[in-house]
Amino acid sequence: MSNYDLSTKCIHSGYTPSKGEPCALPIYQSTTFKYDTTAEMGDLFDLKAEGYFYTRLQNPTNDAVAAKIADLEGGVAALLTSSGQAANFYAVFNICEAGDHVVAASTIYGGTFNLLGVTFKKLGIDCTFVDTDASEEELAAAFRPNTKAVLAETIANPALVILDIEKFAKVAHDHGVPLIVDNTFPTPVNCRPIEWGADIVTHSTTKYMDGHAVQVGGAIVDSGNFDWEKYGHKYHGLTEPDESYHGIVYTKQFGKKAYVTKATSQLMRDLGSIPSPNNCFLLNLGLETLPLRMERHCENAQEIAEYLDAHEKVSHVSYAGLPGDKYYELAQKYMRDGKTCGVISFELKGGREAAVRFMDSLKLAQIATHVAATRTMVLHPASHTHRQMNDEQLAEAGVSPGLIRLSIGIESAKDIIADLEQALQNA
Ligand SMILES: *Cc1c(COP(=O)(O)O)cnc(C)c1O
Repeated sequence: MSNYDLSTKCIHSGYTPSKGEPCALPIYQSTTFKYDTTAEMGDLFDLKAEGYFYTRLQNPTNDAVAAKIADLEGGVAALLTSSGQAANFYAVFNICEAGDHVVAASTIYGGTFNLLGVTFKKLGIDCTFVDTDASEEELAAAFRPNTKAVLAETIANPALVILDIEKFAKVAHDHGVPLIVDNTFPTPVNCRPIEWGADIVTHSTTKYMDGHAVQVGGAIVDSGNFDWEKYGHKYHGLTEPDESYHGIVYTKQFGKKAYVTKATSQLMRDLGSIPSPNNCFLLNLGLETLPLRMERHCENAQEIAEYLDAHEKVSHVSYAGLPGDKYYELAQKYMRDGKTCGVISFELKGGREAAVRFMDSLKLAQIATHVAATRTMVLHPASHTHRQMNDEQLAEAGVSPGLIRLSIGIESAKDIIADLEQALQNA
């Protein structure tokens, strides 16, 4: 599908029906697949032949959606997981083991921050967190001889910090390490990190890709660009025989698809975390309308960010579409037409009490711990995600008591603004 525009790929990539076959992607809700001879099945277990045998490893519905996402990101292959958390876990664990080290942007999603800072530590993998806005020299100082990966988010959730992808890619590559970029918020509609030097792209497909808040899922896309063999023993899991597969060498046998093949045949085999075919079907429906929805999310968010920015009760708005925003220039460079996503954060002059009154007065926007869906959702970090912290700790975490996170839906902007206005009057 390489010559088509993104909106055409969103509909057609990954599944091409033959004569008499269903136009919509079928749901292969089956754990297993039948063969005629012992030898046929044996070859599949040896990775000598391609074919389906057990859904934990491969399933036609899941694979079609994975192929679509790989195509949208401009990668060579993709693997779907049961959550975004599982995607980031596999993306790193596929090339790291006990004794290794990872460099990550400090503004990454809280779940990923804990995964790298706490859980990986228990597995013997260390992580150094770096300021996302750090200079090349400051970034370089975080590297060690055993550093195996760099991870950052194109648009950080919820900090809305925009990554200078080229800067991170350069420093990672100078140290012979791949850059993993979590591209959940902009989606490939607004940004394609591989074009800027990212080697691996991950997603929480739970967010805009699904877009309707109906399934939890994740994806890992391999650009096929990182030269694993160049660094000798460093990525030995990819370049040396895998004893659990009769000594196959992934880079030799699978070339540009070595990384995803290893993640599938080793990590998925041993750790599970596959999405159900039914969830992949739902994700695929979301992907078909992704460009239309992203356009509307961004249009609405821009209008609402401007409205909030001009409001007397609001002290500050973070949205990279506002010319005064700290990340406006980076958004102009890396995002399609400067468009980012539908998430805005803003600060009420009245602090915590005003924020609570504002939240409780909303009639259309729903209080929910989710973002990136068709409906407008709102969260008060001081009362919700950061509830255990006192005002002093909140300040250290960069979350003020009056901060509100708004995920703008695709309803009419006029109706959303009317709801925000009556709630602001009560705040
Ligand atoms: C939500 C999110 C995750 C975690 O994804 P789940 O699907 O909830 O497991 C990871 N990264 C980012 C940027 C997210 O927004």
